Amino acid sequence: MTNKRIGIIGGGPGGLMLGLLLQNQGLDVHIYEKADRNVNRSRGGSLDIHHDTGQLPLAEAGLLDAFKALARFEGEDTKIVDKYGKLYFEEDAEGEGGRPEIDRGELCDLIQNKIDAERIHYGYEFNNMETLDDGRVEVNFTNNETEIFDLVVGSDGAFSKVRPFLADTDLIYTGVSFIELSVPDVQTKYPDLAEYNKNGKMMGLGGDQLILGQLNGDGRIVVYVAYQLDRDQLDEYKALNNEELKARILEEYQDWDEDLLKYIRYSDENIMFRRIYRLPIGFQWQHQQNITLIGDAAHLMSPFAGEGVNMAMYDAYMLAQAIAASDGNLDEALNDYEQKMYASSKERAQESQDNLELFFREDGAEVMANFFIEGQEMLEEADN
Ligand SMILES: Cc1cc2nc3c(=O)[nH]c(=O)nc-3n(C[C@H](O)[C@H](O)[C@H](O)COP(=O)(O)OP(=O)(O)OC[C@H]3O[C@@H](n4cnc5c(N)ncnc54)[C@H](O)[C@@H]3O)c2cc1C
Repeated sequence: MTNKRIGIIGGGPGGLMLGLLLQNQGLDVHIYEKADRNVNRSRGGSLDIHHDTGQLPLAEAGLLDAFKALARFEGEDTKIVDKYGKLYFEEDAEGEGGRPEIDRGELCDLIQNKIDAERIHYGYEFNNMETLDDGRVEVNFTNNETEIFDLVVGSDGAFSKVRPFLADTDLIYTGVSFIELSVPDVQTKYPDLAEYNKNGKMMGLGGDQLILGQLNGDGRIVVYVAYQLDRDQLDEYKALNNEELKARILEEYQDWDEDLLKYIRYSDENIMFRRIYRLPIGFQWQHQQNITLIGDAAHLMSPFAGEGVNMAMYDAYMLAQAIAASDGNLDEALNDYEQKMYASSKERAQESQDNLELFFREDGAEVMANFFIEGQEMLEEADN
């Protein structure tokens, strides 16, 4: 075991998971999060946690049973239609699948509740850092506090402030923007949509426009109205009030099936705008012995393969394992972790980009349906 001091910047799923695993190894680890304790709860959104990546660190931390008790296995229901409502694929989840859904807030609470309170510092926004003559890193926060660490891990997400200390790389706009809508309490208020959507995801694919719906644990459907847009075009939508915005979307989706338009008509005043960015596929940095990255900070990818949070948690698992095996040699641990992380994230980033391109094809519904059917056949073959 090492007596080194480790600072984690960012308390999203990746940073929290790493903090817990390192705490459980008896290490002097601290997490610094710029927002407050409810940051993950207020961000919402349902995430599917994969048995072969995101679930591994939960098992390592002894949280797998608690996770499974909270997870929604029925949330794996999947439906794919084209914009005219023609059904191409429908699967009702049965039993315990490998990718159950959980709300982001619940997942983070589960991990956070196991971390000693004095190790998580809210309201600490990373500002700057420099390597001292003895090889340690002095980190400065916007509240003017300073801390010194042997290792700094940037888990501060897509727009990481730690990443520029390792590489001079710009994010790439994918050409896709999301308008995120929310249909509250769908079972009670809109039973017709609840029946149409079922318990999981609905993907309505219509060339350069998409409607994606996902039932969350709190009873609302999170809806992504997705467009292929130039980066600045999203500002036109942002400038509208809620009524104008809905009217504009409905006009632009006027040839879509009425069942699909309900995702827009029934939505409430909770609206978010998201430009979807990614890092270059295969992004790497010049290795340093005292700073590394995990999660979106290391390999931001579009959400079209549902891998981002899984990779963040898997990175935490790989880095914690590498540190445990290194006998205090953090340089060696980082090298080991980074090589494994580069390989696993490159594959997932490519898959995310390939899926993005498939989703927006004119025949996207048919192509994605075949993709799911082939996946099912492979699973059945593996079972036999
Ligand atoms: C619309 C959308 C849908 C998605 N759907 C899915 C999905 O279905 N499945 C999936 O696997 N992934 C999905 N993702 C991706 C997933 O949300 C991310 O990959 C995941 O949250 C990455 O976790 P992280 O811990 O690396 O970073 P984050 O979750 O971004 O956490 C970073 C944390 O760092 C904090 N922070 C930032 N800057 C600083 C600073 N300077 N100082 C201190 N703290 C800081 C932030 O407040 C935040 O709490 C989706 C993403 C989007 C945008």
